[in-house]
Amino acid sequence: TDLDRIRNFSIVAHIDHGKSTLADRLIQLTGTVAERDMKDQLLDAMDIERERGITIKANSVRIDYPAKDGKTYVLNLIDTPGHVDFAYEVSRSMQAVEGSLLVVDASQGVEAQTLANVYQAIDADHEIVPVLNKIDLPAAEPERVKEQIEDVIGIDASEAVEISAKTGLGIPDVLEAIVHRLPAPQGDRDAPLKAMLVDSWYDPYLGVVVLIRVMDGVIKKGDQIKMMKTGATYKLDRLAVLKPAMVNIDELGPGEIGVFTASIKQVRDTKVGDTITHEKKPCANALPGFKPSIPVVFCGLFPVDANDFEALRDAIEKLQLNDASFSAEMETSAALGFGFRCGFLGLLHLEVVRDRLEREYDLDLITTAPSVVFKVHMKDGEVIELHNPADMPDLTYVDHIEEPRIKATILVPDEYLGDVLKLCQDRRGIQQDLTYVGGRAMVVYDLPLAEVVFDFYDRLKSVTKGYASFDYQITEYREDYLVKMSILVNDEPVDALSIMVHRDRAEARGRAMCEKLKDLIPRHMFKIPIQAAIGGRVIARETLSAMRKDVTAKCYGGDASRKKKLLEKQKAGKKKMRQFGKVEIPQSAFIAALKMD
Ligand code: GDP
Ligand code: MG
Repeated sequence: TDLDRIRNFSIVAHIDHGKSTLADRLIQLTGTVAERDMKDQLLDAMDIERERGITIKANSVRIDYPAKDGKTYVLNLIDTPGHVDFAYEVSRSMQAVEGSLLVVDASQGVEAQTLANVYQAIDADHEIVPVLNKIDLPAAEPERVKEQIEDVIGIDASEAVEISAKTGLGIPDVLEAIVHRLPAPQGDRDAPLKAMLVDSWYDPYLGVVVLIRVMDGVIKKGDQIKMMKTGATYKLDRLAVLKPAMVNIDELGPGEIGVFTASIKQVRDTKVGDTITHEKKPCANALPGFKPSIPVVFCGLFPVDANDFEALRDAIEKLQLNDASFSAEMETSAALGFGFRCGFLGLLHLEVVRDRLEREYDLDLITTAPSVVFKVHMKDGEVIELHNPADMPDLTYVDHIEEPRIKATILVPDEYLGDVLKLCQDRRGIQQDLTYVGGRAMVVYDLPLAEVVFDFYDRLKSVTKGYASFDYQITEYREDYLVKMSILVNDEPVDALSIMVHRDRAEARGRAMCEKLKDLIPRHMFKIPIQAAIGGRVIARETLSAMRKDVTAKCYGGDASRKKKLLEKQKAGKKKMRQFGKVEIPQSAFIAALKMD
């Protein structure tokens, strides 16, 4: 295809502003998919994504569009993941296209993810076409939202396209805007092959499928290619374009986007951002900015039933076939038995993987509190990356500890601002900016990631009744006065409850955890001390008193059925308990004890 007949673009939007619906309309209106095959949200393949309405893996579709100027254009839409956890994937997909549609819900306005995503597009030097969606809604205020886009993002919105992705209104204008307002790609057909690895996924029939954008040169079926970062070479089995079903093609030239298969065994072998070239006639320089995704949030996953350990191992291996960005290492915990220490790109990523394990593989899991990666600087100069508070080395050998900090952007209606500021302040936040945009406050905080990974987002939603939007990016590692706090139940440390905490907050956290555990652990025949300690020093303590009489004693004699019920209830409760020394701790306690409220 001639370069001037190609337009490559992505759609950036805050969640729920209509990105998937718009993609569907574009596909539908151009007859890319036969009407009978059309189902909602074609690009959101996985069930879990559908349910949560989020797109996790980038995907792409090629649309042939006969424009009003009488020429037919090839439009390639790359669908980027909408969430910050996948920021690196988003930035790669952005590098693969020349323009973006900025979709903003005209009844809601600009939100935190709108900003995060549009800044990525601006960084990638995109031409940006603002699209105001949902103008069918009575609450739509296109003029106000245009002003907001200009004020907050600083791009011209006077020619924003007003549409309803739901009713189809304005969709032809979007197609014309793509052709006439977005630039054609550039590239040299005669240069050695240079293509970007944009994404890859595992297909049970085809093996690993690799999505690429050709920058220079031509890639053909049967070519012997080389991945420049990994050094691996492969012979191309199949070359295709996505419409969105795979349609075989003989070659892809500059500016084109497509997929190939090449007997690649694992998604792990394909690094997003890598440069693909010909083995025999390689290009001189790889594409810039390659960086692997690194897990930043870790937690333990343990089967509720110890017999499910092998099933959990299998399930994790299967999921990793398609998601090389999460790591898993076997872990043993005295409290929870055999399990895995898993690393994720962020909180949402963690939730998605855990949900899939529970749902698709029917496993009951205990998730320990998410923790970030601390950098422990030892006195001898060694730096240990601490993924699990339980592994914290002896303090006498530790010089100092660093933790990851984030820049968090929160947009919130004015009336909830006070609560948001308090929440951020409570989480050791440092306010960096506070501005107003169209009746809403935009506040920027520097926060420790450790204080955000646990239940920050839930708390934020609850104090703002769901009206706040939130986004963050990791900025740097910074030293702080951090210590490991252990919890001892009946004088034995429970490793799964250890946490890293700021020294100034340790007493309060410790007290809160002990109080919670006192309520969460059932009474036993003996009294149980529950303590929080730093090193050998106890900083908080509660005592769970002994059970006075047999539980059934209070069912005065006669009522046999009630007595039976009570015993059954106890038995059912027991299944969900973990024996710890002489004490039984309910599974639910492990997470509940760590919630801060
Ligand atoms: P995404 O998260 O950006 O992919 O958003 P979706 O495309 O999944 O849309 C979110 C919700 O908004 C869905 O319930 C859509 O049906 C609805 N929606 C999308 N476009 C419109 C529109 O133009 N008008 C109205 N009223 N609803 C829309
Ligand atoms: Mg979507």
